[in-house]
Parts: sequence; C-alpha cells; structure tokens
Amino acid sequence: MNIRGPFHRHHQTKYIQINSHVCEACWKCSDACPKQVLGKIEVGFHRHVRIVNKENCTGCKKCVPVCPQNAIEYIYKPKSKAKEQGSVPLNGNSHAIL
Ligand code: SF4
Ligand code: SF4
Repeated sequence: MNIRGPFHRHHQTKYIQINSHVCEACWKCSDACPKQVLGKIEVGFHRHVRIVNKENCTGCKKCVPVCPQNAIEYIYKPKSKAKEQGSVPLNGNSHAIL
C-alpha cells in the first residue's frame, strides 16, 4: 500500500512542508496565507493544520516565520542553471555543445 501519496497531499506543496506532529493548532499560518492553502482539522482533540489548496501555493513564505512551533519548512529548491540550459560539464572547466 502506498502511504506517501495521501500524506504528501495534505502536508506538502511544491514549496512548503508541514510537520503536523508538532502543530499546536494556533492557526497563525492559515491566517497569514493569502491564498487559502492552509486549512484546519478539528475533530475533538485531533487538531492540526493541513494543506487544502496545494496548487494555490505560490511559495511566498508568509506562513513559515509565523509558526511558533517551527512546524513549517520551506523545501523548494530551484533547478541548477546548468540543468536549465541543457549543458553538460566536462572536466569541471568546459561544457559540451549540444
Ligand atoms: S508559502 Fe505562501 S501561499 Fe504557500 S502556504 Fe505559505 S503563505 Fe500560503
Ligand atoms: S502556525 Fe504552526 S502551530 Fe500554528 S497552526 Fe500553523 S503549523 Fe500549527
């Protein structure tokens, strides 16, 4: 059974990842998000933030510093310039012409 899919759907966007185990449900992050990416789970004592509009996340980082638990991590890593340009480094000094 693949348990990664559902977990990542509700805990991760392209830009951020939430550790719901340390979330104290203060809702500061959902209040700070301008795109309504972050929703709430409130079932009795089971309370934590979760991703509800993953595609809306722009990576603005407004949710990251407001969390008192450091539960939100910025995970986006841009592709390297070499990869984007399609060149292959040779001997560390030159590039192949493709
Ligand atoms: S990075 Fe910005 S858009 Fe994405 S969840 Fe955080 S506050 Fe919302
Ligand atoms: S700010 Fe942090 S502790 Fe508060 S709801 Fe968001 S993730 Fe949970």
